[in-house]
Amino acid sequence: MKVPFLDLVSQQNEIADEVLPKWQQLFATSAFIGGQPVDDFESEFAAYCGVEHAVGVANGTDAIELALRAVGVEVGGEVILPANTFIATAEAVSRIGAIPVLVDVDPVHLLIDPDAVVAAITQRTQAIVPVHLYGQVAPVERILQLTAGSGIPVIEDNAQAQGSSSPVGRAGSLGTIAATSFYPGKNLGAAGDAGAVTTNDPELAHIVRSLGAHGSTTKYVHDRIGVNSRLDAIQAVVLSAKLRRLDDWNARRRAAAEYYWHLLSTVEGVTAPTPVAGTVPVWHLYVVQVDERERVLTELAEHGVSAAIHYPTPLHLTEAYSGLGLGRGSYRIAEDSSDRILSLPMFPHITRAQQEYVVEQLAAAVARSSAGLPV
Ligand SMILES: *Cc1c(COP(=O)(O)O)cnc(C)c1O
Repeated sequence: MKVPFLDLVSQQNEIADEVLPKWQQLFATSAFIGGQPVDDFESEFAAYCGVEHAVGVANGTDAIELALRAVGVEVGGEVILPANTFIATAEAVSRIGAIPVLVDVDPVHLLIDPDAVVAAITQRTQAIVPVHLYGQVAPVERILQLTAGSGIPVIEDNAQAQGSSSPVGRAGSLGTIAATSFYPGKNLGAAGDAGAVTTNDPELAHIVRSLGAHGSTTKYVHDRIGVNSRLDAIQAVVLSAKLRRLDDWNARRRAAAEYYWHLLSTVEGVTAPTPVAGTVPVWHLYVVQVDERERVLTELAEHGVSAAIHYPTPLHLTEAYSGLGLGRGSYRIAEDSSDRILSLPMFPHITRAQQEYVVEQLAAAVARSSAGLPV
């Protein structure tokens, strides 16, 4: 048997009948940038997240950058973010000329540690970016409590958690403003690159819209120096079709997560992920921890199971961020977990037979290690 890491084709098959005629219409009219499909998707996505405003942009990295700029992050400002995230979270900060200030994560969920955030705050802190990693809700509320009165804006990186929720609301509605990515492999993915910013603040939404359209909301009237970062109509059509299925697809991910827990409950040597109490996660990634991760990953691949690592290198240990001058030992939990984490195949259309095969192969690989047996 072969189990892919994810299966996007099944997603497109579900929406093809709905999307292809609309794409044909768009080709006929050639109204590719903005327009009704984009307006419609923006309202639908805002309603879905439980916020007043959603602004479509070109990708998730732009969404973070524009959200940061909208709340006033400037050259030389400090922005606090977790050491274990996709590099885009930090890149968005660096592109402004601001400084990413990394903090460690909690050992159970690998989400940003609120106490570490507080300890990292200085006079120059201009924003905090919790990341809803793996589809789990980061402790945004706790960070807001601990920083209440500081006026420091909190920007959710919601690239991996569309549809997840805490008792207060959905991811994308918990902070000052939020950024998301519709990269094809995300829970809500486009047919190419796309992203969005969500917020309840009309002024921030206005600034993001203006920044993404060359600093302008009226043609050829430029209020600020912006960029070109817009959502294409052909993407909006796909996103609207998929948004209608997102709750179903997320429920299927949760069912798959339940089944993994069930299967793993009898397997020694594999630490399954722990849901954040009181939240509804959407399992963008199902990340277990094992010893001898590299060997286990290779052996899974040899037996047809595509697993992955998210992410192999904490940001401070990447060549790109070597300039931060932070060596090994700076963020112990991010570093130790990066040697042990393993993302198992996880997608809405995964079958029970596929999951059984994944766990069978994982158990065998892990047993070989503890028994010291040859492969
Ligand atoms: C995917 C992702 C991004 C970047 O999104 P793009 O659309 O690829 O630019 C940012 N942060 C996290 C946590 C992501 O997973």
